[in-house]
Amino acid sequence: MKEIKQITSFSVDHDFIVPGFYVSRRDGDINTYDLRTRRPNCGDYMDNLTMHSVEHMLATFLRNSEYSDRVIYFGPMGCQTGFYLLMRDTSDSEAYALTKKVLMQTVEHEGGMFGAERKECGNYKNLDIDAAKAECSKYLSALEAREKVKGEDFSYDKN
Ligand SMILES: [Zn+2]
Repeated sequence: MKEIKQITSFSVDHDFIVPGFYVSRRDGDINTYDLRTRRPNCGDYMDNLTMHSVEHMLATFLRNSEYSDRVIYFGPMGCQTGFYLLMRDTSDSEAYALTKKVLMQTVEHEGGMFGAERKECGNYKNLDIDAAKAECSKYLSALEAREKVKGEDFSYDKN
């Protein structure tokens, strides 16, 4: 049998990851960003309602932004501690600014959840705008706090 290689995201020591915005990997002109909203393995996980609601809001705002053509993918991590954002032809600084912008748009959003009709989603009752706002607000605060210390260093902490 062919040897199974460890994938890049498993090679990062998750004990050192705190909420923040990180470069997960680069594949040609596509960058994968780790939008870490919760500290791994600390018993504090997003519930499915929260992840799903954030996904709907941020995906919609990302794809309505000036970077819409460069957004490849946005979605939650199965471990319930963050999201992945894949961008093409975008600098880390631009991707970070865009992330903060769509978080703020979600926090300030007046009105209902995007994509909350039965025809638009596979689990349309499992959505809540207030859950999305609470997570985005908390994450935005974590990003701003980290930025004061780390600036725009988006590499994972080693210890
Ligand atoms: Zn959905």
